[in-house]
Amino acid sequence: MNEQPAGAERYLYTTLGLFRRDSLGMILPHEHVFVDLRTPDQPGYAEADTGEVVAVMSPHIAEVQERGITAMVECSTTGVGRRADVDLAVSRATGMPLVVPTGSYREPWIIPAVRAADDAGLEAWMLRELTERLDEADFRAGWIKLSAGDDGITPLEERILRAAARAARRTGAIIGSHTIRGRVAMQQLDIIESEGCPTDRFIWIHTQIEPDLGLHDEAVRRGAWIEYDHVGRDPDGDVRDLILRAIKAGHLQNLLVSHDLGWFDPALPAGGTQRPYTHLSDTMLPLLRAAGIDEATLTQLTHDNPFRAYSRPA
Ligand SMILES: [Zn+2]
Repeated sequence: MNEQPAGAERYLYTTLGLFRRDSLGMILPHEHVFVDLRTPDQPGYAEADTGEVVAVMSPHIAEVQERGITAMVECSTTGVGRRADVDLAVSRATGMPLVVPTGSYREPWIIPAVRAADDAGLEAWMLRELTERLDEADFRAGWIKLSAGDDGITPLEERILRAAARAARRTGAIIGSHTIRGRVAMQQLDIIESEGCPTDRFIWIHTQIEPDLGLHDEAVRRGAWIEYDHVGRDPDGDVRDLILRAIKAGHLQNLLVSHDLGWFDPALPAGGTQRPYTHLSDTMLPLLRAAGIDEATLTQLTHDNPFRAYSRPA
């Protein structure tokens, strides 16, 4: 039961405001501009000079703007160095809209404020970030990013997921979860269904890591999105074949592809070494064309699908 009216016009909620589908081209659904994988209790966690981040990341964003990428989803949530203010500065400098999440990463990365909140408080916080403003910057969250432990969802992670499902049901926002095991993703789908949240408001991030492809199929059968976000990280033939298999299996409507690359890392001198966001445009799309995939299908994969997944009514 999605509480949003059917057929209402949908928008992508970004650092630079709301975007209609026809004002956008290709959208990268899973990348990182700024990440800190140290736990939040570490000295210097998520701290960086904003001007330095802008200087380091702008050329990487310009590269994909030249290739027709018109928006990117920032997948760094609270606990792994979310800095919505830094994302906003990068967007203003480059003109690239970023879709920034509310939500929380898994244990042990959960920030004290999330750990301390009760169920109603968690839901109210996510709703506030989705509908008013993010804690650290004055724009609205575009989605809800969370995660679950590799061996099963913990009680705190389940409380965060249930609050997210209630916030998603009320706003139409999508939940994306970093989930390594398919059986944990199925458990998460059970939980969001039990909260009355439609399964098409769930993205199983890193689906490719689950070796049992039957679970990829099962997630799609249940209405969820699957995401192959290893373009440019795993061998090209393997990534291509997984995408081709999904299309052949009839999963095109539920499929997202991205790099899961970038980023400025404040734990490393000068932000570390970035890995480009260009491999999809330069290598994977040509490989899919060579395998006989037509332009309409590629447009669906790179434009329609990410927009449909991440957009919601105004
Ligand atoms: Zn990621």
